[in-house]
Amino acid sequence: MTDSFVIIGDGIAGSSAAETLREEAPDADITVITDEGETLYNRILIKEFAKGKLPEAPIFIHDEEWYEERDIELSLNTLVKEIDTDGHELVTHDDSVIEYDKLLVATGGTPTQLPVDNSDAEGIHHFWTFQDARNIKESAEDADDAVIVGAGLLGIDLAAICGAQGVEAKYLMRGQAWWRYALSEEGAEVMHNAMRDVGVEPVFDSGVDHFETDDDGRVEAAVDPNGDRYDCDWAGVAIGLDFNTEVLQGTGVEEDDGVVVDQYMRTNVDDVFAAGDLTRFYDTILGEYAQNGSWGSAKEQGSIAAKNMVDPESAEFRWVSSYSITHFDFPFLSFGHPTIGDDEVEKKYSDTEYRRLALKDGKIVGGVLIGDLAPQSAYKRLMKEERVVGDQKETLMQKKFDPDELAASTEQ
Ligand SMILES: Cc1cc2nc3c(=O)[nH]c(=O)nc-3n(C[C@H](O)[C@H](O)[C@H](O)COP(=O)(O)OP(=O)(O)OC[C@H]3O[C@@H](n4cnc5c(N)ncnc54)[C@H](O)[C@@H]3O)c2cc1C
Repeated sequence: MTDSFVIIGDGIAGSSAAETLREEAPDADITVITDEGETLYNRILIKEFAKGKLPEAPIFIHDEEWYEERDIELSLNTLVKEIDTDGHELVTHDDSVIEYDKLLVATGGTPTQLPVDNSDAEGIHHFWTFQDARNIKESAEDADDAVIVGAGLLGIDLAAICGAQGVEAKYLMRGQAWWRYALSEEGAEVMHNAMRDVGVEPVFDSGVDHFETDDDGRVEAAVDPNGDRYDCDWAGVAIGLDFNTEVLQGTGVEEDDGVVVDQYMRTNVDDVFAAGDLTRFYDTILGEYAQNGSWGSAKEQGSIAAKNMVDPESAEFRWVSSYSITHFDFPFLSFGHPTIGDDEVEKKYSDTEYRRLALKDGKIVGGVLIGDLAPQSAYKRLMKEERVVGDQKETLMQKKFDPDELAASTEQ
């Protein structure tokens, strides 16, 4: 009998799973279902489109022929609304029933809306889909000023779009530093200066209490908790993701702020796998459950899930993720889990060069490199090898870091 694999979601996790499934199971039936109206595109690059730096075409990764050539059935504009895991079938928005032998849930997330008055007003943008990027581009091209909220990796994309489109922006942040869970104020200052250079002003100890709208219901200002009012022609909000797990309601699939999967991407329910941003996965490097929202990690999880759907327990997810930012004159890279750990070491080398490593039980669990990315592969390798290096911080922070200079006694 032919195996039937169904994937919900045609983001990078779902799409890479489909590709691997076809390689591993040449005769299987493979179906990919997505509620978006377009085939896989590069979510990482939609910011470059919104900046006005890239046209649409190169952002697409697959066209419909790609799926046809691989005999992968693709259903665009199709929302899965229910899964019956006992019956091994699912139901779509138009009440079509699709059966599966093995199912992959790769539905990612939806940007969280700010829980404040008028947060759904016209001109307030969230950033996840290509369509969002088109809307943001249109708003930014016509705007003089904007407000950005959300001091993390997606918020800074919105800030950079303002910079590139010549929009003067106020970047409202809680606390005193951008991405304060991964960077000290000293490290964040490198980023603050780069924002200022492109016309984006960080506003600290701020945030949004409510938005004000004009008579047509369009945003015209953000008011922060201190009562300060910032005029804006549009606002960008990037405060996190709500995982798209509605389809799992009533299935018994375990969730814990994300879909819980083991290192094989299996959920606790037979024949149901999950991959990508929405997982809380067993991280074999950390030895605990973890989360990661990054392109490379989602791609690898999709591929690992596919291998295990075909051949159980044949591949483990063991991965050090990377996330880079290319908006400014200097490079920026974060890797692993820079926001966790019980210890840290950091160093600022110049106005545009900084490093910080997060450590747990003496082992590197993540880090941020600004300005000089040369040591990234050495740090990532130490992390993957689970080397205890916490007692050698000075060596770790040497400008030209050489892992051979670490004391051999620290090897496990
Ligand atoms: C603007 C932007 C910039 C980014 N920059 C970087 C970067 O520089 N580096 C990096 O590593 N990462 C970056 N990321 C994050 C990265 O893009 C994500 O981690 C990755 O795309 C997650 O892939 P995924 O397949 O898990 O989920 P998604 O890409 O979210 O795909 C999930 C898909 O499932 C669909 N879906 C959801 N529910 C249903 C349903 N019920 N029925 C049918 N379909 C459904 C969704 O519409 C979506 O198409 C960026 C993200 C954004 C938005």
